[in-house]
Amino acid sequence: MRYVQSLLDVVYPPVCAICDTPLAGRVGLCGCCWSSAHFIQGLCCETCGAPLPGESCRRPLCDECLATPRLWSAGRAAVAYSGTMRDFVLRLKHGDRLDLVAPAADWMSAASRQIWPDDAVVVPVPLTWRRLVHRRYNQAALLARALAKRRNARFAARALVRVRAPAPSGADRTARFAALDGAIRPHPNIAAALLGRNVVIVDDVLVTGATLTATTRAAFAAGAADVRIVVLARALQEA
Ligand SMILES: [Zn+2]
Ligand SMILES: [Zn+2]
Repeated sequence: MRYVQSLLDVVYPPVCAICDTPLAGRVGLCGCCWSSAHFIQGLCCETCGAPLPGESCRRPLCDECLATPRLWSAGRAAVAYSGTMRDFVLRLKHGDRLDLVAPAADWMSAASRQIWPDDAVVVPVPLTWRRLVHRRYNQAALLARALAKRRNARFAARALVRVRAPAPSGADRTARFAALDGAIRPHPNIAAALLGRNVVIVDDVLVTGATLTATTRAAFAAGAADVRIVVLARALQEA
């Protein structure tokens, strides 16, 4: 195995996940990208993981989650979707950079430690098969599988299915929520894996939360006892 790894290092020497600077060790980011990445630490919103100023309080919520209470009970994000981390997420999503899954799952595992439920089943936000064929992989499923492994949890890849594509990007908040109504459903045979379980839904980015809301609804329709969410990146409103 070690031989295979050193052979891989010769063929594909480890490089920074964002800027391609060669790396000495097997870490995901070079020092420069690491220091400019916005990892979310300290006080954050209990349901979407957005960083919050100030001291801890019992159940801190951001303005968005106060205005639109989430269907899920808790959520965390590893990084803010901006700057170098936006590049990282886009490379993972569209750039065939599957080597980015491992460091991303490490960050998500650390970020979700406080809210991770006992006896969890991890489920990705599903893609339509059409999108899956086009992209060849579902980045949310890769992140979900790697996260489940790190947390010793069950992984139910296809318990929820997507029957319609999401609203086009650029659609406003209301249109996004409306387009997703009924678009994600429990799989008729596999969704029994979620019955009575603590479900953790995984996605790459949380923007409005419309997709995660539709996925949460489907998890409850499948009989989930509780639903939490973990995302790689939280898109924050410009201050
Ligand atoms: Zn770099
Ligand atoms: Zn929030």
